[in-house]
Amino acid sequence: MQNVLLKVDNLKKYFPKGTSSLKKGPHVKAVDDVSFQVYEGETLGIVGESGCGKSTTGRMIMRLLEPTDGSIKFNGVELSSLSKQEMRKARRDIQMVFQDPYASLNPRHTVKKILEEPLIVHDIGNSTERKNRVEEYLEIVGLSSYHAKRYPHQFSGGQRQRIGIARALMTNPKLIIADEPVSALDVSIQAQVLNLMQRLQQELKLTYIFIAHDLGVVRHISDRVGVMYLGRFVELADSESLYAEPLHPYTQALLSAVPIPDPTYEREKIILTGDVSNAIPNKGCTFQTRCPYATLTCKMTVPDLVEVKPGHSVACHLFNEAQQ
Ligand code: SF4
Repeated sequence: MQNVLLKVDNLKKYFPKGTSSLKKGPHVKAVDDVSFQVYEGETLGIVGESGCGKSTTGRMIMRLLEPTDGSIKFNGVELSSLSKQEMRKARRDIQMVFQDPYASLNPRHTVKKILEEPLIVHDIGNSTERKNRVEEYLEIVGLSSYHAKRYPHQFSGGQRQRIGIARALMTNPKLIIADEPVSALDVSIQAQVLNLMQRLQQELKLTYIFIAHDLGVVRHISDRVGVMYLGRFVELADSESLYAEPLHPYTQALLSAVPIPDPTYEREKIILTGDVSNAIPNKGCTFQTRCPYATLTCKMTVPDLVEVKPGHSVACHLFNEAQQ
């Protein structure tokens, strides 16, 4: 039986539209009733187009954004009810790696200062211990101790992301939320950073939430993958079954765009019409305006995320009805 490290229930984030208040006026449902669990030692990939709510979900777990509603339990502790000070302490165990390492590293600080900062914030070690830990973690992520004196602009994109990863590791966290950590990197460098993250996961017994817009990127690193569309999970399954047999029409379309490294095999590419921004329906399934199988039921009723096979859940009337 795997231990649940993070349990998210009915999480919502609504933003007011224009100048109206959230209670009275129209609002955008960036994350709308999302529930999932993350088990100790696993990688949960969260995938979807830009604007689907995946990064907002990650930021709410860190409480960089306040949820509109819902529960986030980390190791049994309800994060959404912690005070700011208590949450600051909790962040020792939950760290984030960002998409753009250049923007997230202070250009005026040396790497030593950047990596020392989380230790100072959490009051870990004296100055010698901190210096040693900085050097140790530079080596762990494949850099060298002499890099500590340099500034972010003196590194390549891949090296900067290694620094971002080292910074996230400094406090010995249990959970790392990696928000598109390789999207800004060249393809060849992406593989190196993914390999590094996998190695670190095994060596340091880390748990990852790996956020990406591309199913191809999360495939090899994720144990399970959740696909988000317009603020909701539309499919959640173990990697093997999701890639072998995607059930939701949106997952099928996303997967058809992932190149296959076998020239003898051709997969039919599913082209979705419309885009996310102009396709938000008032009721029913959020995917109805782009779905080739939409029926009247789809236009009226939101499909629940239902487990249709062991460990494989989907939010689509095509499958939910077959279960009844
Ligand atoms: Fe398509 Fe209907 Fe399934 Fe939504 S519920 S994905 S519209 S078939």
